[in-house]
Amino acid sequence: MMDPSLPFFALIFLLGSSIGSFLNVVIYRLPHGLSLVRPASRCPSCGAPIRLWHNVPVFGWLMLRGRCADCHVKISARYPLIELLTGILFLALWHDLIGGFTTTEVIASGGFLMNAVIPFVLYSVFVAGLIAIAFIDLDYFVIPDVMSLPAIPLGLLVTYAAGHGIGVSMEDALIGALSGAGVIVAIIVIYGALTGREGMGGGDWKLLGAIGAWLGWQALPMVLFMASIQGILVTLIVGRALAVDELPPMPGEADDEGAESAPAEAKAVGQLAVPFGPFLALAAIEALLFREEWSRLLANLTAIG
Ligand SMILES: [Zn+2]
Repeated sequence: MMDPSLPFFALIFLLGSSIGSFLNVVIYRLPHGLSLVRPASRCPSCGAPIRLWHNVPVFGWLMLRGRCADCHVKISARYPLIELLTGILFLALWHDLIGGFTTTEVIASGGFLMNAVIPFVLYSVFVAGLIAIAFIDLDYFVIPDVMSLPAIPLGLLVTYAAGHGIGVSMEDALIGALSGAGVIVAIIVIYGALTGREGMGGGDWKLLGAIGAWLGWQALPMVLFMASIQGILVTLIVGRALAVDELPPMPGEADDEGAESAPAEAKAVGQLAVPFGPFLALAAIEALLFREEWSRLLANLTAIG
């Protein structure tokens, strides 16, 4: 019999990269309040509808060599990269949930549907949502409430239905939602009292609350630790490129709002407003995929202490 690993590999990558293609639409349209389903994808420059073959994730962009088929204007490489990233993360999640390759024995085993397929379908929604939130926050310095707030009850429901797939109970999720939101609110209040400035965006507490609901409170120390470390490193290296001063204004916002703040170059790196949401999202995906390694590390550390 043929080894089913390869067809599964292709199927899940195709699923992930197609979802990634939809995430590109979400990232581009949701902050502008545009419909996510209509109209179909068009070239942002000439408005020509994108043909079916050119809409194939990753390969469409490669076939076109990164240019619109009609007006030949350049199409950002970010589109195929988000499709590729989503495909790879879906594969990583699948691989992680079934603990290796999709062999015939794995499929035939009793828990395949309950312990692999259902948790995969549900937690892939979490991964996809985090990718969209990360890039929207990067582009517009905002985490849309319409994504982060429903993610909290949805995370509790998913934990109820499939938390066993990643070893999280309903109780872990409830404590996670409350403590995730609470810890960021506490940081905002304390940081604000000490410095008189806002250290984090107002959307961050809802996002960490949602992460706690999906991954349980056990994941939160790793999420906060990894988000901070990676946030600091990336800010030191490319902080000026990420800083909010250089981002395009939201549609409908007057240009003069940006005029009162100094250009990013004039500020010290420590005063740059870099969005924290993308790092929380990145760390949450890491916490999901490396949860076993992390709990083993913690167990070793407490054994030494
Ligand atoms: Zn065009």
